[in-house]
Amino acid sequence: MPQKPKRPCRYKGCPKLVSNTSGYCEEHEKLMSKHYDKFIRSPEHNKRYGHHWRKIRARFIKGHLFCESCFAGGKYVLATEVHHIKPLSEGGKNDTENLMALCSSCHAKIHSSKK
Ligand SMILES: [Zn+2]
Ligand SMILES: [Zn+2]
Ligand SMILES: [Zn+2]
Repeated sequence: MPQKPKRPCRYKGCPKLVSNTSGYCEEHEKLMSKHYDKFIRSPEHNKRYGHHWRKIRARFIKGHLFCESCFAGGKYVLATEVHHIKPLSEGGKNDTENLMALCSSCHAKIHSSKK
């Protein structure tokens, strides 16, 4: 049996080579799942978006597997975040037209470039 090809851990700057499906080394896989848990279960997040949003988000991610911003640049990066193009705080809606699937780094970039 040939070994599965190893790729560098998806965590930015981590030099470890991995061959598992998550694409993260053991350490970062744990970190990411903790992060994900926090994201999904965070009371503050739930207060803001609620159960309804979690459903929309899950459905949207299923149909938009890759980060739209990376994809536009020819890269396939799994999306981990759903971004509101027009923020809810500015009257944006949880509609597909107002949502964008993004990887965490593109998402952070979008938010940090917005003042
Ligand atoms: Zn790693
Ligand atoms: Zn991206
Ligand atoms: Zn966002």
